[in-house]
Amino acid sequence: MNNQKLCLICSISILIAILTCSSSAVGTTISSDDDFSYFEGTCFSKAIETQKNQSSSRRRSPSVPPSSLDCTIWTKACSDEILNLAKRPENIEWLKGLRRRIHENPELAFEEFETSRLIRDELDKMELNYRFPMATTGIRVMIGTGGPPFVAVRADMDALPIQEAVEWEHKSKVAGKMHACGHDAHVTMLIGAAKILKSRQHHLKGTVVLLFQPAEEAGNGAKQMMAAGALEDVEAIFAVHRVVPGTHTVPVDPVLAASAAVISLQGIVSREANPLDSQVVSVTSFNGGGDNLNMIPNTVVLGGTFRAFSNTSFYQLLQRIEEVIVEQASVFKCSATVDFFEKDSTIYPPTVNDERMYEHVRKVAIDLVGQTNFRVVPPMMGAEDFSFYSQVVPAAFFYIGIMNETLGSIHTGHSPYFMIDEDVLPIGAAAHAAIAERYLIEYG
Ligand SMILES: [Zn+2]
Ligand SMILES: [Zn+2]
Repeated sequence: MNNQKLCLICSISILIAILTCSSSAVGTTISSDDDFSYFEGTCFSKAIETQKNQSSSRRRSPSVPPSSLDCTIWTKACSDEILNLAKRPENIEWLKGLRRRIHENPELAFEEFETSRLIRDELDKMELNYRFPMATTGIRVMIGTGGPPFVAVRADMDALPIQEAVEWEHKSKVAGKMHACGHDAHVTMLIGAAKILKSRQHHLKGTVVLLFQPAEEAGNGAKQMMAAGALEDVEAIFAVHRVVPGTHTVPVDPVLAASAAVISLQGIVSREANPLDSQVVSVTSFNGGGDNLNMIPNTVVLGGTFRAFSNTSFYQLLQRIEEVIVEQASVFKCSATVDFFEKDSTIYPPTVNDERMYEHVRKVAIDLVGQTNFRVVPPMMGAEDFSFYSQVVPAAFFYIGIMNETLGSIHTGHSPYFMIDEDVLPIGAAAHAAIAERYLIEYG
């Protein structure tokens, strides 16, 4: 009887902690089984560079190739034409200039006012129509016939509260803020795509919608964009994220980290709580790895429950559980995220690629950068609010490689040493443009 009464007033909550040792993992998303595609921008740009040097030593070719090609049925020549547009020296200089300006002036989630202004200035110069503001700083651009089909490509604009540690000419001018996730490059590539698509407007068999979205890092930029109508009429959506290849796995052990976390969690109630104020913290499941007993898993998922009789204790527990798990994970060079299922609106669902859209990106990428520069990457941890779009329309999320050891472009996102190889910018612009233009022809 007494127990029942007590139960009526006690708060019960369930928690899930995900410990992962993939070094880029933050946030609450577990990627699904579907693979993301990834293509090696920098490798390819070097291949092109060599080709270019060879041909330019022979004869100077006009910088703008004739665009009289009929791309109603897409051929490799159409891809080449787009890539050549993107790789014109003056275009590359322009893209680098944009990226550097954005990099120097990083703005946090929902404060991307100057970034948004810079984008709109460029759109104005191109005489493109757009809707603004959406979700405070967001922009929705339409290029093409204005009629169906509609295909969208999205870039995120926000920077991170990180002090840049890279000393270079275009270092962040704002103390404590940095584009450490490469969103400066994402924005630049999408502006680059706008320019290519504008110049090929007569080829478009429908409408391309370009979305410049605020607040990817801080959570609900995508949701607010959607609430403002970003996906109106849109039947498919794509986005790129830069990636440093080979940095997802580090030889550390999440099983050990999780075990330490479980033991430390017991200390919260036994050592911190007032013995007269009953509290419970129980880890009730521990999952990681598969059937292969020879392999250390990348990720361990702990599940459990915690209870307290008062709100104060409840929220203290909640905070301590998170602290203990996160700190214990970091002792073992792992990262952990804790999900209390209470903030449903900020939990990111997994980003799952639609099979047809994945196939589309694969075709476009191989055409642009060649079979050997296209890879399929394993599912990875890491929050990405693109998943909100992918819940509504078929979507594909892909990575573009930015690794270049000689430039020091070897650090993962969210590192104060994060650097990108700017040679990736024209490749990204071409990829966006080709994905969109070709979608309209082949799926419209
Ligand atoms: Zn990020
Ligand atoms: Zn990012």
